[in-house]
Amino acid sequence: MSIDFSQNYDAPLVTSALTPQDENEFSLRPRTLSDYTGQEKAKENLAVYIEAAKRRGEPLDHVLLYGPPGLGKTTLAGVIANEMGVNIRVTSGPAIEKAGDLAALLTNLNPGDILFIDEIHRLNRAVEEILYPAMEDYAIDIIVGKGPSANPIRLDLPRFTLIGATTRAGQLSSPLRDRFGVSLRLELYTTQELARIVTRSATLLGMQIDPDGAKEIASRSRGTPRIANRMLRRVRDFAQIYNDGVISRQAADHALNRLEVDALGLDAIDRRMLRSVITNYGGGPVGLETLAATIGEEAVTLEDVYEPYLMQIGFLTRTPRGRCATPLAYEHLGLEAPGQQAFPL
Ligand code: ADP
Repeated sequence: MSIDFSQNYDAPLVTSALTPQDENEFSLRPRTLSDYTGQEKAKENLAVYIEAAKRRGEPLDHVLLYGPPGLGKTTLAGVIANEMGVNIRVTSGPAIEKAGDLAALLTNLNPGDILFIDEIHRLNRAVEEILYPAMEDYAIDIIVGKGPSANPIRLDLPRFTLIGATTRAGQLSSPLRDRFGVSLRLELYTTQELARIVTRSATLLGMQIDPDGAKEIASRSRGTPRIANRMLRRVRDFAQIYNDGVISRQAADHALNRLEVDALGLDAIDRRMLRSVITNYGGGPVGLETLAATIGEEAVTLEDVYEPYLMQIGFLTRTPRGRCATPLAYEHLGLEAPGQQAFPL
């Protein structure tokens, strides 16, 4: 009997966006700073800010977390709330449609609480303007009544902490960006850090994994814990059928090859993107929109999800005139880089 595992899931394996397959992701979220692997620079600074705020008996300054999806922004917000010993309310930019929605959220907070707004760059203007006095003066101005008798009144809010997360810090308006006291950039994780995350997740999920198995998954999950955890679950299925359930290097390699994730974690879309830059546009430069249209993907997806990793591993560069493929990308795809062709005899 042949089992086609790739048919069981409809979302691509290496996307760093949250998909339905990640449903048990929540149980894997670390709760304390010491359990939160990697991001050492951000963690060191945060530990100081948290301790200082606690000693002063004040809420933490507003925090902006930015970086590609799946790197642990939401997780870190939960860790901060836990370390501060306060409640967290979680929402997202697109979910807050009207100024009144945000006013309701803010007035229901308790002193010291954290309001987490994911995708904060997607807040609309009217909502964003309510946030300015809320962040700065812990107050909001609302209009009571209609027509000529309408009156603005100022409502005081409890002192709270706003944690905003975004994949695109550049898209935040500067008045909003300036109101965050702390701004932390999350980086792609190293293979060693991801191997630790995979091993921890496997233990929590009751799986047997050996160190080489964890390393194999880690090195193919493009610096992103969400992808590492997702691969782990898929590899487990293969390991159960072919390897007595133990996740060894061989089992991970077998599973990930079957799922068409290559040794560097690139999937079909990465390869299509690089191949297109090389074959359709002579290696670049090519504008992002043009490239997206050529391969039939959204430009934002290429920019947020695919590019950061391809740039990190040195396969793609960004120039003012567009994206360029590097000789490493040619080599990985088995193509000859320009200038390396042999002269005809
Ligand atoms: P983001 O908000 O940046 O999209 P999440 O916080 O939702 O990312 O993280 C995705 C998943 O990756 C989490 O459920 C968690 O299991 C895992 N994860 C993220 N960062 C870490 C970390 N530093 N240590 C361990 N697991 C992590």
